[in-house]
Amino acid sequence: MTKVVIIGGGPGGYEAALVAAQLGADVTVVERDGIGGSCVLTDCVPSKSLIATSTRTTYVRESQSLGIHIPGTATAPVRVDIDEVNNRIKRLAQAQSEDTRARLHKEGIEVVTGEARLVDPHIVAVGDQRMRADVVLIATGAHPRELPTAEPDGERILTWRHLYDLEELPERLIVVGSGVTGAEFASAYQSLGSDVTLVSSRERVMPTQDADAAEVLEEVFMRRGMTVLSQTRAESVVRTEKGVLVTLSDGRTVEGSHCLMTVGMIPNTENLGLEEAGVRLGQGGFVEVDRVSRTTVPGVYAAGDCTGVNMLASVAAMQGRIAMWHALGEAVSPLKLSTVASTVFTHPELAAVGASEDDVRSGRIDGRSVTLPLNTNPRAKMNEVTDGFVKLICRQHTGIVLGGVIVGPRASELILGVSIAVQQRLTVDDIAHTFSVYPSLSGSVTEAARSLMLASPE
Ligand SMILES: Cc1cc2nc3c(=O)[nH]c(=O)nc-3n(C[C@H](O)[C@H](O)[C@H](O)COP(=O)(O)OP(=O)(O)OC[C@H]3O[C@@H](n4cnc5c(N)ncnc54)[C@H](O)[C@@H]3O)c2cc1C
Repeated sequence: MTKVVIIGGGPGGYEAALVAAQLGADVTVVERDGIGGSCVLTDCVPSKSLIATSTRTTYVRESQSLGIHIPGTATAPVRVDIDEVNNRIKRLAQAQSEDTRARLHKEGIEVVTGEARLVDPHIVAVGDQRMRADVVLIATGAHPRELPTAEPDGERILTWRHLYDLEELPERLIVVGSGVTGAEFASAYQSLGSDVTLVSSRERVMPTQDADAAEVLEEVFMRRGMTVLSQTRAESVVRTEKGVLVTLSDGRTVEGSHCLMTVGMIPNTENLGLEEAGVRLGQGGFVEVDRVSRTTVPGVYAAGDCTGVNMLASVAAMQGRIAMWHALGEAVSPLKLSTVASTVFTHPELAAVGASEDDVRSGRIDGRSVTLPLNTNPRAKMNEVTDGFVKLICRQHTGIVLGGVIVGPRASELILGVSIAVQQRLTVDDIAHTFSVYPSLSGSVTEAARSLMLASPE
């Protein structure tokens, strides 16, 4: 029986464990904190649970145009009990961690609590315990990057892992970093009632996302009262008597009650014995892997955030499964990043899959695209949805769907149709001939496909 040892119990690790067990391997997962990993306990699940609350508060605040007048909301802000919110989040995260642990147990997977280290490619150590392994999977995740001039203290200068222990809603929150994480928290806390300033080192927020989408979101943020400071960096963050003082690279200073640092992730690959075992680490300490999750050492695989391939739970899980299918001799398709769907859970949401309009503009792909604003969609009008759009990208001559971007409510759910098209290499004609419900936001996806069908390629 093949012995598999997995270091790390996040989605990269536990999804791999389930596949390995299904294929009949003897599987052990070593986890130092809690099953579910940072994904479940501190990062993805808590943030999306917080956003569940902030989304509702936005709907309440913006419901007057639908004829709903909630006494008090016009004059006083919606009151959020942050204690209740945080307790709910922590309860939910803990319950999901326990559910996942129970599932592993049910599948006969051994869970060892402790910090693991690779002694050699076939021996994993946890304290004094030594485990022999035919296959090792490194799925140790990553942790928030900290700046020496802005060291988090967990009270006023924070990483997102401190947020759920706050006893009060930050009155004036400065979010440093306008990538996906920064934008999500800025949007959420603004909806909860904080006065938010977002510090962005680039010209626009979310520089890695579709430019039109980022523009819509920045506009919405500012309309709701957020201050966005662009093209400047936080040089330092210090505590003051009442809060924090952020000094920017252009010399300006900003005062707030709290500062949330979202300036990237560092892989958890130190002191694991990786390099000693011959596992090559690339730039920034990420484990180098190929598309079937192999490291430079035979029998040692890696998955998830520690590889830096695409720091998403869905990608971590897929890398972990692929590793096990490959290691245990199953037929496997290598990881295909061009089909990964992702969402920025702001309000409205920004979901994207596949090729971007930038790929078309720069000539990287021979394609064409169409963008339909949501405010022309009947369902959007009925729901008073004014911000957002559907963008579809297809191959110039064949009309094969290569990608899409949706900005709107529940874009994370709406993108699936486009994802299926990209994965299955469907054409715009295929989508155009698909029934969407009338009235529905997804009607804009079929309409976008219809307009690309009619557009004759040059
Ligand atoms: C705020 C935030 C929100 C996010 N939201 C989303 C989202 O909405 N959707 C999405 O797809 N992704 C989201 N992500 C990304 C997602 O959380 C990560 O991609 C995912 O957690 C990666 O899974 P992983 O298994 O690689 O690592 P992790 O989930 O970090 O798990 C790694 C585990 O390994 C353990 N470990 C580390 N070293 C050792 C050791 N030596 N011995 C034993 N155990 C060890 C750690 O304790 C940890 O539990 C978000 C990230 C952040 C920061």
